[in-house]
Amino acid sequence: MLICPACGSSLEPAREAGVELLACGRCPRLWLERNRLPDLLADVRRTISPNDLAALRRVCQQRKKSAVAEAELFGSVEYFPCPQCARPMQRKSFARVSYVVVHVCPEHGLLLTAETLGQVRDFLARGGELLVWERLYADLAEKLRQVVADNPRGRKGADVFPDHPVNLEIRALLALEEAFPPESSALS
Ligand SMILES: [Zn+2]
Ligand SMILES: [Zn+2]
Repeated sequence: MLICPACGSSLEPAREAGVELLACGRCPRLWLERNRLPDLLADVRRTISPNDLAALRRVCQQRKKSAVAEAELFGSVEYFPCPQCARPMQRKSFARVSYVVVHVCPEHGLLLTAETLGQVRDFLARGGELLVWERLYADLAEKLRQVVADNPRGRKGADVFPDHPVNLEIRALLALEEAFPPESSALS
């Protein structure tokens, strides 16, 4: 029998969205075995609109602020031991930009609550994956800017790695950036 790492009560078999998991009998924690999260999210339907995406971005930023404020208030954040191996779990922001905190043992699974599961589902339903792509694009553009800045042969990405296929992508990204500066992007 596994013990809830948050309150010490026993974790009992339960079902959420047709997926078997363990639920704490005393506190709202849910324990999901590794690799089962996609099953739990498989039925989420996406409806995406620009206004809603802007609102979702604000929701995520607000969660980030609350998490930071909470950490400052208590001087630290909560880390739980994995119910299976007892090693400290990692705190992660689901899909990086959602700022929904989940606790992960890379080997065994994931601890969340009904509330955070609802937030994860809401993030996906409102097009959160687009925010993930937006962040990946911003990171890549930043890396490319760095490569170009460090390159003594000048600004043109095409000269950075001569004859390398990545040049095509660099050129395309630089062209894309010139055509759509970040501040004019529909996603920002
Ligand atoms: Zn509990
Ligand atoms: Zn573990």
